[in-house]
Amino acid sequence: MRNFSQAVQDADSLCGIKPLWTKAHCLKATALSEAGQNDEALQEYFMCIALKPDWTKVKLEAQKVNKLCSFQATTLCGGRTVHADLLDSGDMECSLCMRLFYEPVATPCGHTFCLKCLERCLDHNPNCPLCKENLSEYLATRGYSKTLLMEEVLQRYLGDELAERKKIHEEEMKELSNLNQEVPIFVCTMAFPTIPCPLHVFEPRYRLMIRRSMETGTKQFGMCIADELKGFADYGCMLQVRDVKFFPDGRSVVDTIGVSRFKVLSHGQRDGYNTAKIEYLVDKKVEAEELVELVKLHDSVYDQADSWFTSLKDNMKSQILSHFGHFPSKDPDPQASPCGPAWCWWLLAVLPLENRAQLTILAMTSLKDRLIAIRRVLIFVTRKRPR
Ligand SMILES: [Zn+2]
Ligand SMILES: [Zn+2]
Repeated sequence: MRNFSQAVQDADSLCGIKPLWTKAHCLKATALSEAGQNDEALQEYFMCIALKPDWTKVKLEAQKVNKLCSFQATTLCGGRTVHADLLDSGDMECSLCMRLFYEPVATPCGHTFCLKCLERCLDHNPNCPLCKENLSEYLATRGYSKTLLMEEVLQRYLGDELAERKKIHEEEMKELSNLNQEVPIFVCTMAFPTIPCPLHVFEPRYRLMIRRSMETGTKQFGMCIADELKGFADYGCMLQVRDVKFFPDGRSVVDTIGVSRFKVLSHGQRDGYNTAKIEYLVDKKVEAEELVELVKLHDSVYDQADSWFTSLKDNMKSQILSHFGHFPSKDPDPQASPCGPAWCWWLLAVLPLENRAQLTILAMTSLKDRLIAIRRVLIFVTRKRPR
C-alpha cells in the first residue's frame, strides 16, 4: 500500500510540473486505481481523455474503473456526484492564452487549445504550438472538431468559470463588432464605394482580421492606402466581404465591395493590425437652383465620361470591364446615395490617376466638386491621348 501511495505522489508531482502532459495524468490514474482510489482515478482518466480524446487504451481503462466506482455513473463522463474540487480550473487552461479553454479543439498530435488560439498560431506556421508536430494537413482540411468531452467536463465541473469565460468572449466580440471606435484597417490599396475589391490575404495579421470580421458577423473592415508618416492615409473606404475562399495553407482570396467612405479620427493597433476611430463621410445635399445646376453638370460629365470610355481601344476596354464590371448607368437622382452616383467611383477607379489624387476626390463631400475634379481628369486624358 505504501508503494501505491508513493506512486500516486510521484505521478501527482509529475502532473504538477507538466499539467498538459497526458502521460502524467495516465500514470496518476493508474496509480490511483491501483491504490484503490477509483473515484479519483476516474477523474484523472477524464483529464487524459479531455487532453487526448482518441486515446483508446485510456478509454477502456476508464470504463473498467467506472464500473468499480462508488458513484453510479451511466456513461464515461456521467459521474454526476464527483467532488468538484477534484478538478482544478488550472488543469483546464489553454497553454496559449492561459485562460480556461474556450471552444477547445484537439490536434491530431493530441494537444488541446482554444479554437481561436490555435488558429492564430497556425496563421504564423503550421506546427503544433506545443510539440511542433506539422499540422499542414490538419490545417488544409480545416477539420477542427470541438472536443465535446472536454466541453462536457468544463460544463459539469467548472460551470461558473466557463460562464465567466463565455462572458469575456462575448464582450470581446462586442468590442470587435463596433464599426466606429476601433475599426480594423487593411492597409493596401485604394477602394471606392460600390466598386469590387478582390484581396489576396496571406499576412498573419490580416488573416486574423478577416476571420474576426466573419466571426463577429460585421463582415466589414476599412481599406486605406499606406502613408509614410502616419502608417495609413486619413481617408478610406469600408469594404464588405462578399465571399472568402481559403487555400489549404491558410491563405485566402477575399471578394469585397466598397460600401462607405470614412475619415480617420485617430490611429490605433490591435493584435498586430491597424485600427482607427472613424467618422463616416456623407455627401452634402443641395437644393433648388443649386440642384438644377448640379444635375446639369452631372449629365454633362457623364456624357463626357461615356464618350471617353467608348473611344478606348477594344483590348483596353475589355480589360477594364473584366476588372471593374460595366460602366454604371446614370442615376435619375444624383443625390440618392450618400456616396453619390456609382459611375463616378467606377470612373475614378478606372482613370489613370495616382493614389493621392484619387484620395483627394474620395474625401470630397460635395458632389459638385467631385464632378468638376473628374471633368478635369477627363479633359486631361482626352488631350494626352495620341490621335
Ligand atoms: Zn486559448
Ligand atoms: Zn502537439
